[in-house]
Formats: sequence, structure tokens, C-alpha cells
Amino acid sequence: MRFKDIEGQTIMANKLTEIIDSGRVSHAQLFLGDSTSGSLALAIAYAQYLNCEHRQHYDTAAGHPDALRADSCGECPSCKKYEQLVHSDLHLYFPTTTTDSVKSNPCCDEFQQDFRKFLTEYRQQGTLEDWYAFMQTDNKQGQLRERDAESMVNTMALTTYENGYKVLIIWMAEKMSAVVANKILKILEEPTRRTLIILVAEHSDKMLSTILSRAQLVSIPRVHGSDEMTFGEVQVRAENRDYFAQMYVTWMRQLFKLNMASLSAWVDEIAGLGREQQKQFLMFAQESVRECFLCNLAGMPLAMDFGDAKFNSSFPAMITEHNAEGLNNAFAECIHAIERNAYSKIALMELSFRISKLLQRRKPAAPKS
Ligand SMILES: [Zn+2]
Repeated sequence: MRFKDIEGQTIMANKLTEIIDSGRVSHAQLFLGDSTSGSLALAIAYAQYLNCEHRQHYDTAAGHPDALRADSCGECPSCKKYEQLVHSDLHLYFPTTTTDSVKSNPCCDEFQQDFRKFLTEYRQQGTLEDWYAFMQTDNKQGQLRERDAESMVNTMALTTYENGYKVLIIWMAEKMSAVVANKILKILEEPTRRTLIILVAEHSDKMLSTILSRAQLVSIPRVHGSDEMTFGEVQVRAENRDYFAQMYVTWMRQLFKLNMASLSAWVDEIAGLGREQQKQFLMFAQESVRECFLCNLAGMPLAMDFGDAKFNSSFPAMITEHNAEGLNNAFAECIHAIERNAYSKIALMELSFRISKLLQRRKPAAPKS
């Protein structure tokens, strides 16, 4: 997979090739993006570029600012094996389940050929549901299993077959139980030479914090053009998203200054939306805070776009380990109150005061003298 073959992710591709060219490749990374983001294809393209023997660099100065700055060559021996997904230092893990052909003890080893066939047929953009349909699972939910974790640990212990990096890609990493996750903590935190582990996931809230804290976050935006985006469990329609982002930016700015007149007008506007819309907005806001916190933690630029460059670059720093949990709880309680038909204006005003206080609490309390 070359970056040029992934639609709508040029900016992300440029960030990724820059990480590799600058030699700042972290041993364990989490590619987080919804099913429209092409995150698995990006992970494979990233691994291919990392191992390419003749990386291509393009002169972007003259061209469109969104043009690709670099890509793998597609021609060298390593690229050729990557294009066929047969490179001996590329190891793929994914959820499996029992099927007609694998009646017991499923694990990734049993499905390697099927999975490569699936990736090829779906141009590496298939969803988890597509994969289940491909395996003909009869609606059974797949998992990443203990045997898979053992295989990951063993694979990491092997020497690389070829000259480049050994790469483990773990697709749908949220399908790992705590037991399985614990088995791979050691390989996540103890980098061995020329190895890369890429976890690919859709929902950070379904992942264990032990895993999240050990992987560098690469937050992958959705591809523009698909008309719905997922925020946690809610689907937010694209036209709502721009409005929500705008209302969110306005709100957060008001909460810094605590301007009561404009805050009150803001509360009136949100309270005037239907209850379901209010809930969706709050879920959007909650997810935004989570995203800002994760980016802040990982020291990565924010991938989500609030439609305001200044806000995009300055706001994530306001969400720290001192207030992230409090903010998350405040949103959750307000959502719950709105679901229980609380009076929206009061619930939103109370939430505003709570957030305002929490934003000021982003640094540890000064010791009392
Ligand atoms: Zn190449």
C-alpha cells in the first residue's frame, strides 16, 4: 500500500512520512480513527514506507499545499513484498472467531491467508463487519486471543528476517480482553531494536488505560465526504458537526472569561435544540475533551478540527491529568440529567460553572505556605 492510493488522507500521510524521515519512530503507536478513516491502510503504508529502500520525496513547494511530500517507491524488493502483503517481517493480528472451517480454538494463525485476501479485496479499507461477513461468522463477535498474544511475544523475540524493521500490526486492538492486553504490556514497553508495533483501533474508550499509556497516539481524522461521523456511540451528522464545533469553541471561550450575558444567550440557544440534539452536542463536547487530553498526553498535534486554527492549537493544553476526569464526569452527569428530562437551561448552566472551575484547575494546586 502506498500513501498515494489512500484517498483523502494526504495531510496525515505527510505527517507520518515526516515522523519516519526525522527518525522519531516510536516503538509502539496507536492509530486511532473511525472506520471511514482508512487507519489500517495508513498503518500498512507507514510500515511499507519505513522499510522502503528508495523512499520518494516530492517537491511540494510548487504544487498544491495538500500534495504528498513523500511516498514509498513501490518497486524495491521490500515494497514488492509489502504490496503483496507477504513481507516476512510484517505480522498481522486481528479479531477471529469460530467458523465453518475453523470449528474450535480460532486464532490469527488459522486465518492469515483469509485476512490477506480480505485486505486485498477491500483495498485495506474493510470494516470489522466486512471482515466478519468475509469469514462467514454467523454474527459471532471476534476477539484477539491469548494465543495471539503469545504469538506476538514470540514474534518479537525472533530476529528479523530481512534488513528493515519488524512490524506488528494489531487491527481492532479494542477487541483485546484485559488478560490478553496484560500479556503484551512487556513487548509494548520494552522496545527492541528495529521493531514497531502499531495498534489500530476505532474507540479509545474501549481500550485499557495500560495500553493507551504505553502507545504513542496517532489520531487519524475521518475522510471528508462520508456524511456521518462517529463520536463514541453517537452518530453526528456532518452538518451538525460544524455547528457543534462552532458552539463548542464559543462556549469554551466564554467559560474562560465567564461572561454571564453571552453565556446565558449561549445556554438559551442550546436549550432550544431538541433533547436528542442537546445530548448529541454534549457527547460531541465530551469526546472533544477526551481527544484533546489524549493529544496533550502524547504531545501530538490535534487531528480533529474545530474550524478555528487558534483554538485548535491552544485549547488541548487546557485539558490535563488534573481536570480530564472531572470534565468527563461533568459531561456524563449532564447527559444523564438531560436523558432524565431535567430542565435543560439549569443543567447546562450548572455544567458551565463546573467546567469553568475545572479549566482553572488544569495545573496542580500550589502548595499552601
Ligand atoms: Zn520501496
